[in-house]
Amino acid sequence: MGYSKESYLKAKTILDRRRIESENALEERRNILFNRSPEARELERRIARTSLDAARAVYSGKDVKSELENLKIKNQTSQKRIDDIIAKLGFPPNYLEKWYKCDKCQDTGYVNDKMCTCMKNIIRDFEYERINNSSSLKLCGFDTLSVDYYDESERDDMKKILDYCKDYANGFSQNSRSILMMGKSGLGKTHISLAIAKAAVDRGYGVIYVSASTVCKKMEYERFNEKIDDTERALMECDLLIFDDLGTEFMTAFLMSTLYTIINKRLAESKPTIMSTNFDFNEIPKIYDQRISSRILGAYKVLTFTGKDIRVKQAIEGLSDDEE
Ligand SMILES: [Zn+2]
Repeated sequence: MGYSKESYLKAKTILDRRRIESENALEERRNILFNRSPEARELERRIARTSLDAARAVYSGKDVKSELENLKIKNQTSQKRIDDIIAKLGFPPNYLEKWYKCDKCQDTGYVNDKMCTCMKNIIRDFEYERINNSSSLKLCGFDTLSVDYYDESERDDMKKILDYCKDYANGFSQNSRSILMMGKSGLGKTHISLAIAKAAVDRGYGVIYVSASTVCKKMEYERFNEKIDDTERALMECDLLIFDDLGTEFMTAFLMSTLYTIINKRLAESKPTIMSTNFDFNEIPKIYDQRISSRILGAYKVLTFTGKDIRVKQAIEGLSDDEE
């Protein structure tokens, strides 16, 4: 499925605007040139008339070939003279060409029917932004997470979890396994989920990151107002779904069955989902009905985070970084 249509359309709008801007800028430069050199304006007019002259030559009954050759030479001479004027005025040689942001695709976003890197980068940045807007932390990499933040007794376990998640992120594909991250808040679950999200986006996959309570409210709203179930479909279809803070939402029968459908459908299609929750093995079945909890606990790779809140340590470290 890849990146969202929304980001794709936004990128297209940016590129359309860039092309218009480069046309307008060229028009502006032409005006500056012609105001400073009326000769250049006249030469340009002469060149513009060439096709008319060529048509005339064809119908004149004269020797068409030599007439066209003459026109070509005249054109080249005019062009050369314009180039000289441009140089004399101190303008760059490409003054009368369009200046593109990306020369590879001339701001069309495509090279030989393949999406250009510039367009991919714009879309990727919009995907980052979309995830940032729906998460409590900013999108980040694994480089900002260290096992040193954890107590010594937990470091070995945390290293295993971190290594697993790094490998998972590096090798992420549409058919990667689903993961359930369990443990108290402040142990790095959201941070690690976002690092995986970033890696997946960088690999070209479409990621949806939602907090369970926000998305459930949204789905309830859509249902209540008989809106098209956009959210539900997006959650089912994205390459990677990250469901943060499971268990904090208020579960109605409707949400229970919707959540079950999403979990089930994604598992059936081998699409990865990452869920994180502050609740443990015993608490999950109390929050969700049997069908949901047994699906998650049975089919997902369960990672259990233990230890004390690392956010204080991270914050202190952040302060000392600033002092350097
Ligand atoms: Zn490009």
